[in-house]
Amino acid sequence: MTKVIAIDGPAGAGKGTVGKGLAQKVNFAYLDTGSLYRTVSLKMLKQTGKFSKEAAIEAAISLTAKEMKELLSLPELRGPENSENVSKVAVLPEVRHEVTNLQHKFIENPPKGKDGVLLEGRDIGTVVVPNADVKIYLTASAEIRAERRLKDYEEKGEKTTFEEVLAMIKERDERDMNRENSPLKPADDAVILDSSNLTIDEVIEEALKIV
Ligand code: C5P
Repeated sequence: MTKVIAIDGPAGAGKGTVGKGLAQKVNFAYLDTGSLYRTVSLKMLKQTGKFSKEAAIEAAISLTAKEMKELLSLPELRGPENSENVSKVAVLPEVRHEVTNLQHKFIENPPKGKDGVLLEGRDIGTVVVPNADVKIYLTASAEIRAERRLKDYEEKGEKTTFEEVLAMIKERDERDMNRENSPLKPADDAVILDSSNLTIDEVIEEALKIV
């Protein structure tokens, strides 16, 4: 059985940076599951220009490995428009079913030479891998998460304000935490790690202790 570390938490908590850093330290393969939902959402936007349930489901069902690879390389994947739409797409059970299958395939066939896999997302410890070997729920205050996201956007030259980013983060939290299907919440056996007042290296250090 492949060893699994599950990291869940809200947008901007640092799951990506910490997940990659931790995976490298323990020689695990890293999978950012949010980016998989983002490819479905971006495919839908490219095909129809806006959110609709039908277009989102169609995009998920017809997504090929080649398309996914192309979409993953596009800068719009993490841009504000796709960020706003992705949590609407991720509410749909049909989309979650397809994306969860992809994650199970990754776990069943991990990249060669790795000692396990680290998946980060919203429902890894609760739904995708309920028997994961380690579960971490990484969180931080909404204001700190908005500040971090604003910095990311500024570095990419995207024009936005702190207030806009904070409102978007809160809206996404609300949708991710209150949806009927696989809502974002800590698994009963997850260790909660608050990154609000820690540097990236300190969070990775804490996560390593948990592992
Ligand atoms: O992590 P990231 O911000 O890229 O995730 C984008 C969106 O994908 C989240 O807001 C959430 O709606 C959805 N998602 C999810 N389940 C996961 C990972 C992401 O519903 N495991």
